[in-house]
Amino acid sequence: MSVWRQLRWRIVGAHMVVVVVGVTLVLLMAWLVTQVVVPDRVLASLLSLEAADETGEAAALVLNEFRRSILLMVAVAGLGALVAGMATSLLLAREILRPLNQIAYGSQRIARGHYGERVAVPPSDELAAVATSFNQMAEALQQVEAQRVLLIGNVSHELRTPLTGLNGYLEGLIDGLFPDDVETYALMAQEVRRLRRLVDDLQDLSRVEAGQIELHLASFDVVPLIQRIVMRLQPQAEAECLRIDVVHPEKTILVLADADRVAQVLLNLVGNAIRYTPQQGCVTVRVTAVSPHAIISVEDDGIGIPAEALPYLFERFYRVDSSRARHSGGSGIGLTISRHLVWAMGGELTAVSPGPNQGSTFTFTLPLAKAF
Ligand code: ADP
Repeated sequence: MSVWRQLRWRIVGAHMVVVVVGVTLVLLMAWLVTQVVVPDRVLASLLSLEAADETGEAAALVLNEFRRSILLMVAVAGLGALVAGMATSLLLAREILRPLNQIAYGSQRIARGHYGERVAVPPSDELAAVATSFNQMAEALQQVEAQRVLLIGNVSHELRTPLTGLNGYLEGLIDGLFPDDVETYALMAQEVRRLRRLVDDLQDLSRVEAGQIELHLASFDVVPLIQRIVMRLQPQAEAECLRIDVVHPEKTILVLADADRVAQVLLNLVGNAIRYTPQQGCVTVRVTAVSPHAIISVEDDGIGIPAEALPYLFERFYRVDSSRARHSGGSGIGLTISRHLVWAMGGELTAVSPGPNQGSTFTFTLPLAKAF
């Protein structure tokens, strides 16, 4: 029967079974007591003393009355127990079912996109734990949804900038406002490069955030890698009249990491240091080994970072000065990717800065191949 599929009627049914079994047993015991355990003869003789009834009819009458009264009492008590059992089980079922129904309703609302849905926390411990877990899950879903919306907004905003630039050049060419020469095409190519870098960064971001990045861990000396990256960025630094120093101990520093990914992190950090340091500034890359880690820091004496911005630096699309960073081609996801990459290789990436115009230092660690 479908009614027994409902928790309410199962609870009531279980209570009723207990009551019916209890009442039946009590009735049985009462019957045994009146029929067997208290022998007729004893009762009859007791009654004969008082009534001096020779036939014994009065004694039998009293005895029957006694048996009837006991059974009636037990039957009335049983009925009372039945009513009380029904009432308490219905109340219990209501207490259990109301929060469960609320949670079911809340889940349906969340499934329809109402992420602000929460349920009242009931007084009983176990149901309160279920309701609290539900509310925490709803909160987490709401945050994920908010981040998703923010991400879409950020991505479209970032895509719009180079697309608007490209569109401007194309329309200018069509209308004859821009000359049809190499310079115009070079400017257009710059916007396309910007678009491509953004798309590459977004792809990297989605992979690192999903933990899907494939690492090729190997043991290698990190110093030559740092020197190679610095040499690669040297023309950029020279164009800005910046000096880049590499400070390292004499001995080799063997790390267990993915060389390509370490290079990617270094390119981001040293590239940022060049980008955010005014002319005549200095960038220093230091590497030391403090077992069980190699510590690599990129220090500059550039524009620095205000204390209030430091906690957000590694969040996607965060830029301290968005107009300046966007002008220089930054999308604000380089540091997010770098931190995830360093985490994946078993290290940590942090940033410190004494304040605006006082430079900044980005430090990351990598596991040493051989702890000494
Ligand atoms: P972007 O591509 O915009 O540089 P990043 O994620 O690499 O993105 O950096 C995020 C922001 O952190 C930058 O926009 C900039 O405001 C700040 N930042 C990063 N490195 C430095 C630095 N060396 N000095 C000052 N600010 C920095």
